Amino acid sequence: MVENAPVLSLQHAGLTVEGWSRAAVQTYWRIPELRIGFDLGAHPWDFMSTPTWLLTHVHLDHVAALPVYVARRRMMRMEPPVIYLPAYAVEDVRRLLLVLQRLDRGRMACELRGIEAGAEFELSREHVVTTFGTTHTIPSVGYVVWDRRFKLKEEYLGLPGDKIRDLRLSGVEITREVRTPLLAYTGDTSPAGLDSCPAAYQAKILISELSFIRPNHRREKIHKFGHMHLDDYLERADRFQNEVIIWGHLSTRYHPQEVKRLVEAKLPAVLRERVRLWL
Ligand SMILES: [Zn+2]
Ligand SMILES: [Zn+2]
Repeated sequence: MVENAPVLSLQHAGLTVEGWSRAAVQTYWRIPELRIGFDLGAHPWDFMSTPTWLLTHVHLDHVAALPVYVARRRMMRMEPPVIYLPAYAVEDVRRLLLVLQRLDRGRMACELRGIEAGAEFELSREHVVTTFGTTHTIPSVGYVVWDRRFKLKEEYLGLPGDKIRDLRLSGVEITREVRTPLLAYTGDTSPAGLDSCPAAYQAKILISELSFIRPNHRREKIHKFGHMHLDDYLERADRFQNEVIIWGHLSTRYHPQEVKRLVEAKLPAVLRERVRLWL
């Protein structure tokens, strides 16, 4: 094992969240059970085994390690990874990888899949991902991972097993799809991005950004740069139904002790037991 980048971790609802995130430094998260990661600002050596990455936007602190990750996978003879990213950036990222391929003389094998806000794709039969538009200084999206179950339709409840089997074999659609939001990740966004996605408020786990905390910071400026202030969350305290809320992406101008002190002093009880500061 090589420890080349810091990682914090927590477990909840059968999922492990691992990652690290500071504004303008580097951001990366992964959920090993879902075999996906979010953003590639840097890349801990261990994260290499995760085959699918969902990028929120192409600011360097969220994308700089993409070539490193792709090259490592190839060096270790792993399958080429799949990378989802905002569609407008796909061609430029492809070009960037080609330039690095020429410099490094190692083939950059990966599948780049462009997505827009409102897209949907499958991770497996049980898990589906949807995207939502976030509000930042460049085009950006957030992601929601849904748990998907197929339940017997009401009208067939109580029927004997062989009847149900006959119906199914005759091609009748006997199940309906039921989705529950498991995890939402906003990436960098101002409040409008978060507010545009009701599922982000409902997901069992919400990973979002809290870049600024000091009371004297001007919020309109923070919003203009596509970020969240602590007061934005406090104003919305009653809306969060999440079981766990992770706040990362804190500005480097704060010492972790200052963040903890200030957030603890201001958080209402309704949020305090659910919020985890990622520091
Ligand atoms: Zn960022
Ligand atoms: Zn950004």
